[in-house]
Amino acid sequence: MKRTTISFYTLGCRLNQSETAFIQHSFAMDDAYQIVDFRKPADIAVINTCTVTQKGDTDARRLIHKANRLNPDVSIALIGCQAEIQKNLLTNFQNVRWVVGNAKKIDLLSIIKNTRLNEPPLVITPQIPTGNFTIPITGIDEKRTRANLKIQDGCNFFCSFCEIPYARGRARSRDFQNILEEAKYLAEIGHKELIITGINVGTYRQNNHSLFDVILALEDIKKIERIRISSIEFTTIDKRILTHMAQSPKLCRHLHVPLQSADDQVLKSMNRKYTYKAFDDFIDFAYNTVKNICLGTDLIVGFPTETDIRFQKTYNHMKNSHFHYFHVFSYSRRNVAKSKKLSQTIPISVIQKRSLLLRKLSTVKRKEYYSSFIGTTQKVLFEQKKGESWTGLTDNYVRVSANCKRSLRNQIREVQCVSLENDKILGTIKRQLRKTHGKTRTK
Ligand code: SF4
Repeated sequence: MKRTTISFYTLGCRLNQSETAFIQHSFAMDDAYQIVDFRKPADIAVINTCTVTQKGDTDARRLIHKANRLNPDVSIALIGCQAEIQKNLLTNFQNVRWVVGNAKKIDLLSIIKNTRLNEPPLVITPQIPTGNFTIPITGIDEKRTRANLKIQDGCNFFCSFCEIPYARGRARSRDFQNILEEAKYLAEIGHKELIITGINVGTYRQNNHSLFDVILALEDIKKIERIRISSIEFTTIDKRILTHMAQSPKLCRHLHVPLQSADDQVLKSMNRKYTYKAFDDFIDFAYNTVKNICLGTDLIVGFPTETDIRFQKTYNHMKNSHFHYFHVFSYSRRNVAKSKKLSQTIPISVIQKRSLLLRKLSTVKRKEYYSSFIGTTQKVLFEQKKGESWTGLTDNYVRVSANCKRSLRNQIREVQCVSLENDKILGTIKRQLRKTHGKTRTK
């Protein structure tokens, strides 16, 4: 029997990645399908879309063209956030046969199987459910060493620039036991690090369980050696998580807390519910509580109310902050987000200039942070080989590269940090001590 070839591409956030892993797993378990790389021609190409910025939209268009170029007879499934928001527009693209929103994308296998030949393009975007949820299948993504673990979806915060509450619905949490079942499965198939993922993970609530309870329960899984929290809103962080992080052997010393702007007027017009002072106090607390914690943030440049002076304020605060890196996003007007109504616009050239300034500052901060580890020994979880060397991450998000002829994939090894090169530390693997019959020998 000729199997139908199917390829997947994920745009956007970690949550989308984890959801592609679920969907991909359902196809992997069905003998009628063969999963192929997105760079190869496929009978069906699935694009899990993102609509958080204009770039997400254009990337999806580029991938549609790519899938068509590789196979002019391809059938394309556009799923996820863009499918939710721009449903009717998307069926106009060549060979798009399915447009499936977030509520139903997990059922893509049965949707495709039940589609009749020559049926016109299907648009499936039912209302997004409101209650807590379970996920009937585990995620599997062989390309990734560190596995994303979805615990939450949706958001109630309605920041004025953001379409997510419309694309993913209101905040809801995954059943606690259902999370643990998947985590155990991921541990059994060899993942050593789990990344707790959601849209607004700090709002996790299921019965009496909070994010802190999820972390503690994951730490009890023997084969899991690292637990990392993905992006989290600082207003939702239980300070017990930080005091726990300071001494836990498993919870990674890494926080990515979106700030967006360090000017209170801009924050207010973004509908962010905090002042810069409150944010900065929290960062101080995290920095002083968890030794060597890595702190990262998101910043938006070019928001309509961001004047030159307000941008300068953000820049100066970031320069003097404890942050070690920033992700910088150029503001783009989104059709269903509230900021669309703000009349001011910042010229593209100004946005590009501001963005470049912050990106350069981020590079400087990251290098300063990395330099502080030169001469120390760090534990690195190796992920992939690039040329002759293997690269991986420390628990506090320092990228380290080391030469090794043997495969280091998915191994945690001690590395002596020797020097800094661009965006990583170069190191040498320490010889591993192994106990045999009561004696210790090196390997
Ligand atoms: S917290 Fe704000 S930016 Fe983040 S998903 Fe919710 S609405 Fe969007």
